[in-house]
Amino acid sequence: AIEVTGLHKSFGALEVLKGIDFTVRRGEVVCVIGPSGSGKSTLLRCVNLLEEPTSGTVTVAGTEVTGPDVDIDRVRRRIGMVFQSFNLFPHLTALENLTIAQRRVLRRDRAAAERTARANLARVGLSDKERSYPAQLSGGQQQRVAIARALSMDPELMLFDEPTSALDPELVGDVLAVMRSLADEGMTMLVVTHEMSFAREVADRVVFMDGGVIVEEGPPDRVVGAPQHERTRTFLARVL
Ligand code: ATP
Ligand code: MG
Repeated sequence: AIEVTGLHKSFGALEVLKGIDFTVRRGEVVCVIGPSGSGKSTLLRCVNLLEEPTSGTVTVAGTEVTGPDVDIDRVRRRIGMVFQSFNLFPHLTALENLTIAQRRVLRRDRAAAERTARANLARVGLSDKERSYPAQLSGGQQQRVAIARALSMDPELMLFDEPTSALDPELVGDVLAVMRSLADEGMTMLVVTHEMSFAREVADRVVFMDGGVIVEEGPPDRVVGAPQHERTRTFLARVL
């Protein structure tokens, strides 16, 4: 679970997050939507401390990550993160991309790491690609490898930052299908996305951000289907 309270983040004089409160309960899928520059990525990056919050608290799986003596590497290990750019190691095969952090960070031996890697490549439908290098894979396949890599670390929750927005339209569906099956398996997920059909069908809750605040949040039928606020309606009219 994720609990964010009173989260503020400034870059110099620019206040990007202006007091964010929200919770993602265990097993829940929460989608964050909102215009460019509204602070969605910054919010995600504050959850795993890629950015240090200016004030407020973030608690992940019972550990206050903004607390004084937190072992941030330990916390990050429990959080899977998938970005718009896949960030695979180009000189490693798909299988090696999945085993390297397991071996170095979790100290798994080769056999155990490969077992976990193969299970996760199967989970994303890429068992036949374990020997392929990233350049030999489509963007959608690379992103599914990136998801499998995150899953290989046995995360308690997954953060996704626009995982499909760099993909050709015909490749988006495969990645969303993998994310949907993860959601069905009960993975806790916080997903920044512009895919409104995914948000409508998969999210338990949708959070609409604009200008560094949460303007409204609730079940997708309400936030996407029948938004209460003018800013939400204006945004949806542009993206739908
Ligand atoms: P997009 O939909 O385009 O990805 P976003 O909602 O994810 O937008 P953020 O990336 O969180 O928005 O950025 C919010 C604001 O914070 C922007 O004005 C951005 O320029 C600014 N910002 C983000 N990171 C930094 C940084 N490291 N230094 C200074 N300003 C930053
Ligand atoms: Mg962003």
